Amino acid sequence: MEDASLDEFGDSDGGEGDDKEGTEQTAAPTEESPTSTESATPTSSVDPAGTDCKECGSSTERQWFDGGTLVCRDCKDW
Ligand SMILES: [Zn+2]
Repeated sequence: MEDASLDEFGDSDGGEGDDKEGTEQTAAPTEESPTSTESATPTSSVDPAGTDCKECGSSTERQWFDGGTLVCRDCKDW
C-alpha cells in the first residue's frame, strides 16, 4: 500500500506540474463556452429611438435577433 501510493504520488506530481502550463488554456474553456454564450452573447438590440420590426412593422425600442433578423418581442420565436 505504502509503496503503491508513494509511486503514484511521485508520478502524478511530476507529470501534472509539467502538463498544467501547456494544457490549461487549451482544454479548460471548451465546455464552458457554449453554455455561457446563451446569456452572454447579445441576442437583442436596444435602440432608444425605436426601430421598426421587420416582421410586423411596429416600432420598438428593443428587438431580438431571430435567425439573423431583428424582430420585436411579439414576433420573436421563443
Ligand atoms: Zn414584430
